[in-house]
Amino acid sequence: MTFTLLHKDKHSKARLGKLKLFHGEIDTPVFMPVGTQASVKSITPDELYDIGFKIILSNTYHLYLRPGVEIIANQGGLHKFMNWKNNILTDSGGFQIFSLSELRKFKDDGVEFSSHIDGSKHFLTPEKVVKLQEQYGSDIAMVLDECIQYPCSEKEAEKAKNLTFDWAKRCKAVHTLKTQLQFGIIQGSVYKNLRKASTDEITSLNFDGYAVGGLSVGEPFDLRNEVLDYSVEWLPDNQPRYLMGVGTPQDILYGVMFGIDMFDCVLPTRNARNGQVFTYNGAINIKSAIYKNDSSPIDEKCNCYTCRNFSRAYLRHLYKAGELLALRLNSIHNLYFLNKLILDIRQAIATDTFLKFKDDFLKNYKF
Ligand SMILES: [Zn+2]
Repeated sequence: MTFTLLHKDKHSKARLGKLKLFHGEIDTPVFMPVGTQASVKSITPDELYDIGFKIILSNTYHLYLRPGVEIIANQGGLHKFMNWKNNILTDSGGFQIFSLSELRKFKDDGVEFSSHIDGSKHFLTPEKVVKLQEQYGSDIAMVLDECIQYPCSEKEAEKAKNLTFDWAKRCKAVHTLKTQLQFGIIQGSVYKNLRKASTDEITSLNFDGYAVGGLSVGEPFDLRNEVLDYSVEWLPDNQPRYLMGVGTPQDILYGVMFGIDMFDCVLPTRNARNGQVFTYNGAINIKSAIYKNDSSPIDEKCNCYTCRNFSRAYLRHLYKAGELLALRLNSIHNLYFLNKLILDIRQAIATDTFLKFKDDFLKNYKF
């Protein structure tokens, strides 16, 4: 299981790579749809594969609370349980504890929190998070980190960075599953000195790949890009770099420009369920009355199942009538659109025209 850097764009830090994982090779840059509860909402594994996805993300926190690790392990692991034959990355649960749980307390030895489902109390340690992901049998596991909110003081950010390093060491020490890669996570909020220190600390542990964590938590877009630019610069060239929880077309294009290889986000599927669908001219809301009698597809240039077969008028009707098919068709389109964007990005990097591609795309894409 290795990462091969295949090509670097001549005019930016964008790069093409190949990541060999236990359930097959993936090309990078890559976008991973999110299957929070061992399901990418409303889409079957076959449909995901047919769209072009070979890796998805699933959430350790959600699966730990429901159905519980014993059931997944008894059913032969996460791949078998959900009948997904390709790769799975599992996160550590740190971000969900940070964002979903009302009562949480970060202590030196772990994090105490109450379930967002029934309020029951739980305590997760770095070691337990590693074991959970080994029992799920995911192909890439993330270490437990403390994702700190924005804004925060430098002192708070430093404390979270130190705890993240301590937990990373403990995660590394107990990881034994040979078929699973383990990625470290860089923290440090928006403080350059802390980001540098965190990068030095985490990379000294020799993980299989690295995530730039603690971004997309409310900071302005320009500040995020500034942090991302220098953070990626300090990471080893020959290992995969992952930007967690980021997934608008604009975010992906900027991430790729700074040298990010992997992305995940709930956005394409969550927005689809709210009627918001991507087009090459920006996202539109299919609920809008202007599409009431519109016989064109969501996007003329899109070749997805939804666009090949259905009009905006029909999709709007389904949505307004509360039909389940609306959620499925919108999700299929948004996932296809993002995967096509990734394919086009790869093609542009291969021909050293990425920056032109990015500028042309964003010129038409209205926010
Ligand atoms: Zn489409």
